[in-house]
Amino acid sequence: MNRAKTIIVSNRLPVKIVFNGEQMIYQSSEGGLATGLGSIYKDGDNIWIGWPGAIINEETKQEKIADDLTDRNLSPIFLTEEEYNKYYEGFSNETLWPLFHYFPSYANYSDENWNMYKAVNQKFADAVLEVLKNDDQIWVHDYQLMLVPQMIRAKARNAKIGFFLHIPFPSYEVFRLLPWRDELLKGLVGADLLGFHTYDDSKYFINSCQRILGLTTNSNQLFIHDKPIIADAFPISIDFDKFNSLANDPLQKPHEENIVKRKGKAKLMISVDRLDYSKGLINRLKAFDKLLEQNPQYIEKVVFVQLVVPSRDTVKQYADLKEEVDKMVSNINSKYSTLEWVPIHYFYRSFSIDLLAALYKTADIALVTPMRDGMNLVSKEYVACKTDETGVLILSEMAGASKELNDALVINPNDSNKFVKALVHALEMPVDEQRQRMRSMREIVSRFNIHHWVKVFMNRLEDVKVLQRKLS
Ligand code: UDP
Repeated sequence: MNRAKTIIVSNRLPVKIVFNGEQMIYQSSEGGLATGLGSIYKDGDNIWIGWPGAIINEETKQEKIADDLTDRNLSPIFLTEEEYNKYYEGFSNETLWPLFHYFPSYANYSDENWNMYKAVNQKFADAVLEVLKNDDQIWVHDYQLMLVPQMIRAKARNAKIGFFLHIPFPSYEVFRLLPWRDELLKGLVGADLLGFHTYDDSKYFINSCQRILGLTTNSNQLFIHDKPIIADAFPISIDFDKFNSLANDPLQKPHEENIVKRKGKAKLMISVDRLDYSKGLINRLKAFDKLLEQNPQYIEKVVFVQLVVPSRDTVKQYADLKEEVDKMVSNINSKYSTLEWVPIHYFYRSFSIDLLAALYKTADIALVTPMRDGMNLVSKEYVACKTDETGVLILSEMAGASKELNDALVINPNDSNKFVKALVHALEMPVDEQRQRMRSMREIVSRFNIHHWVKVFMNRLEDVKVLQRKLS
């Protein structure tokens, strides 16, 4: 087959290798991105390049994995432990992640990690160049691979390259703190189309390119030696139908009945996040404490189920956060519990998607209150599972999702007084108002779903190439 193909590049492949003794098992990812891009990478000669989620040093095993994955249109990039530590844990997660989430004091600037980031990005770019043919299109994903677009462009001048950033892009004053700011921007502008979650993110990126690289820009266009490239907002979403049908599935009933029985007459409030300082876990617990302190009438009338998914907890900031959350939960519970009632049910683990959907469906209120979040998919999953159109979403204005889900109760998580007011509003909201708000949010999430996101991005990449040809 000779037609042009699509090459997807991301840090992780949509499968994970797990070991059962000596036996290797390939577990497919159920994440939204894997679902959304599934219709693309599984087709024809298309291919997805990325790390398979385990460190494999033996060459024979690497060959077997590469062989096994070929049938699934997946091409693994193997990383050594040192590469993983410095490129992924180091530069990506301890420099870019905190800085881009507006926690500059947590960012670690290490030349050693930066050099490894460059080397591993080159490794990914080389893997693309190895399979790249003339009219192929390439879609590079996320902050781990920001140098890849230019590394490809350097060897394939006319390649069609898209890039999407899954985390926020910070304002210039924060981005400029990075010692390697010029190199990162030069890496990105190797792409023809740069996608961000929100209009603000894309504006901040364009502004940094003007001020740091001195590029000429015009609205969402940036000019690279007279060639226009585009930076724009493409808010990512979820597989609405999957969550909606799961919430309607009769097999889910036992989970739901169990939760409803346990909450009794109390209202059920939930939160679902990875352990991360960007998620606002502490501010949320403070607000819940304040709610009960100022409004004792809610004692025994509200149950807060807090699900925290373990993440990076060997890193100091994460371990400290975990300790603080543990302590606060225990303080709140010891302060307000009665013989019949415990205010916070705290889980530090992950839930199956079935249990998660049941939790979303039965929750009267979902608290999604990050200090900063690129999009936040939990907010959209909650909305997709509220099939009876009741329920209240309290959403931080610092989450990308707040730009679309206007009918949530939108708050600033630092404003504890308004946070508590929003909690009371949510607890007292009449069903009619809940329905009105939830219906409009469900319409948005249903229409602008993950499949729509993929289609719009791909079409736009095509359009940019047409524009470039016209102007050349
Ligand atoms: N999630 C999960 N297991 C759990 C709880 C949540 O896989 O036990 C998923 C959840 O369904 C959502 C994702 O984790 O799709 C979190 O995405 P989000 O954009 O909210 O935050 P991120 O963790 O990507 O910063």
